[in-house]
Amino acid sequence: MSLTDAQAASLSAETVVVAAGRPPRDRDAPVNPPLVLSSTYYGTGPLGDGDRGYGRYSNPTWDPFEEALGQLEGAELPGLLYASGLAAVSSALSLVPARGVLVMPSHSYAGSLVMATEMAEKGFLELRTVDIADTGAVLEQLAPAGGTPANMLWLESPTNPMLGIADFRTLTAAAHEAGAIVVTDNTFSTPLVQQPLALGSDVVLHSVTKYLSGHSDVVLGALVTSDAGLRAALLHHRTIHGGIAGPFEAWLALRGLRTLALRIERSQASAAVLAERLSGHRHISGVRFPGLVTDPGHARAASQMKGFGSVLCIEVAPAAGLSGADAADRLVQGLDLWLPATSLGGVESLIERRRRHTAEPDSVPENLVRLSVGIENVEDLWADLEQALKALDS
Ligand SMILES: *Cc1c(COP(=O)(O)O)cnc(C)c1O
Repeated sequence: MSLTDAQAASLSAETVVVAAGRPPRDRDAPVNPPLVLSSTYYGTGPLGDGDRGYGRYSNPTWDPFEEALGQLEGAELPGLLYASGLAAVSSALSLVPARGVLVMPSHSYAGSLVMATEMAEKGFLELRTVDIADTGAVLEQLAPAGGTPANMLWLESPTNPMLGIADFRTLTAAAHEAGAIVVTDNTFSTPLVQQPLALGSDVVLHSVTKYLSGHSDVVLGALVTSDAGLRAALLHHRTIHGGIAGPFEAWLALRGLRTLALRIERSQASAAVLAERLSGHRHISGVRFPGLVTDPGHARAASQMKGFGSVLCIEVAPAAGLSGADAADRLVQGLDLWLPATSLGGVESLIERRRRHTAEPDSVPENLVRLSVGIENVEDLWADLEQALKALDS
């Protein structure tokens, strides 16, 4: 390990993203970890703890990223990489006991909700969905008077795409009181903006596809925990269910992670500027961004996040005979610089009307457009939005 946990804890995250997960400083050793492509490893004795054995059990290219992510989340153990964010969701949900109770935000990532719903339909678990920003409603679902207490609380904050903010400290304490473990999907924030373990979560989940890798060129997921028992169960699930990361993707993810702090700094600052300017615009009927002082989640977000992220949502007003949804589509099609595409967290700015996805719940307004702010110059991003908004006049 190039950077011990104690060193990582004493350094700022901006430094850890650069310094973590490097090879030992041996003479002529590479300063970057090599990409190891091998499905098997030499060995003749009995396979035991720590043996690499076979490519589904472990790969040296996973280790530096897992080490770095564990240190960034402030965990006592390295993270676990997965083939995708949803492979990590599948592993995390395996921690719910048979016919146990899962409490999940009604605006969780759509794929996570679909997976939990299908598990519930098969009778594997009981699913209770709830508005995660409504603390009283969550407490009621965690430990209903006279009902079965929950086994797992799923947290996502800010939620996707409504950007609702959960009260972490209250909810994690209540979940533990009820005997539930807490899993937090921290994809939108990254450990640089929000540290769920410090706020009481037991497991942190990432779609590494997004900010951590940061260049929209890999699909990967990860889990992080400080609990050795939970980590062993998750590792076993990954090995047996097979949702492992490709070594090249893992290598690219670490390369992307090196610039995370710079990317977040720029994109958060730009998102704040754009949210302010869009708020006053005649073609926009609403802006959701926890960084706006008028946002309902602002005070809560400020108390538990180091910044407000770089995803914002706008609602497009009806214009020139178009419904709000049609005006939103026209806006997205009228942009030159912003890329009309799903996903988020890359260097390039992405924009999409969310209800174009048929799986998106009805509670997401038809005219809601999600913006993932990248690292381009903010005035260029604004100029492009301004010209496409102006085109709605005609
Ligand atoms: C994208 C995403 C996921 C799923 O990750 P994949 O890498 O696409 O499998 C899960 N949660 C959130 C918040 C996401 O944005």
